[in-house]
Amino acid sequence: MTNTLSADLPVLPFSRPTIDEETIAEVGNVLRSGWITSGPKVKQFEAELSNYFGGRPVRCFNSGTCTMEIALRIAGIGPGDEAITTPNTWVASSNVILEVGATPVFADIDPVTRNLDLDKLEAAITPRTKALIPVYISGLPLDMDRLYAIANKYKLRVVEDAAQALGSHWQGKRIGSFGDFVSFSFQANKNLTTAEGGCLVLNNEEEATLAEKYRLQGITRSGMDGIDCDVLGGKYNMTDIMATIGLGQINKIDAITAHREMLAQHYFDCFGPEFEAKSGAQLPMRAFGLTNWHLFQLVLPESVERASFMRQMMDEHKIFLGYHYRAVHLFTLYRALGFTDGMFPIAERVGKQNVTLPMFNAMTKQDVERAVEAVKSVLYK
Ligand SMILES: *Cc1c(COP(=O)(O)O)cnc(C)c1O
Repeated sequence: MTNTLSADLPVLPFSRPTIDEETIAEVGNVLRSGWITSGPKVKQFEAELSNYFGGRPVRCFNSGTCTMEIALRIAGIGPGDEAITTPNTWVASSNVILEVGATPVFADIDPVTRNLDLDKLEAAITPRTKALIPVYISGLPLDMDRLYAIANKYKLRVVEDAAQALGSHWQGKRIGSFGDFVSFSFQANKNLTTAEGGCLVLNNEEEATLAEKYRLQGITRSGMDGIDCDVLGGKYNMTDIMATIGLGQINKIDAITAHREMLAQHYFDCFGPEFEAKSGAQLPMRAFGLTNWHLFQLVLPESVERASFMRQMMDEHKIFLGYHYRAVHLFTLYRALGFTDGMFPIAERVGKQNVTLPMFNAMTKQDVERAVEAVKSVLYK
């Protein structure tokens, strides 16, 4: 049944990139310039990102995924080593562990934050553990003091999957401005996008030089025609076209986060204090000042089938929801490694029942009101 009201309404997606006209014009200039691959725009974007992260070295790449793989390679993690991550993530976080030949280990999540439970993370550490890959789902960081206390105690490297967390904070400090390796994604749905792309925050220039080698076939150039290849690198460089799109947004990050905070607050106000008890659904943690509100997610009660909820939102209200994500250890590739149902019950439930409501930079308060009314009309039936 189509709601008569929604017949005239435009589709409301869960995410949509916003690129302003000035940026589009700058991309045109790059396309006309004669230099469209990695060049001065990438260098400028890296400098501005480094400035944003308090002066730490930053290098850009063509995805967030490869930044994590490269961080693991720089840390020397490979066959025989274990790395621990969360099952409640995009499969990239654990695929990169397999990519470098190491062994993925999972720990279950906290049902409130939906991030790694640090007690369970610590319990999963073995003598073979070499790295931790914490993920900041929806942009919400972990308890960073405790995370790094654990890493220091067991002498582990940390590759922060901060793909969703550009603009998030821990105790007033920007995520990326402290810690070990910190990886960000600029994929189309992220708060800042370069269409595809990512950056890695590193600890020192030595690591940054190694990152540059892994980024482009392991080569080093010198003089007019000096060239050598001394490590096995890949093809992961960012283009000036992508960097130009990012340069159009980097100075707006704090404004983007503030707008999303306003939208999140409006979501809570519109859902009201009775929503959770009445619907059985769980709202996100009210983590103002920590998260950048990359996603605004509900966890549906188990009595509601997610697919049919998503379909009703689409058919009756023209609202296209997402889900982020499905528990990674239950994918075929991971089942083949011995992971099975019931190992991480909280991540399994959240993976089955989460839905991502509309949340994007150009969204309005009216869009929030429309989304909340639709959710209530479906769940209160
Ligand atoms: C987006 C994302 C990635 C991967 O980023 P790409 O740029 O698409 O490679 C990894 N982890 C998480 C949690 C993400 O949201």
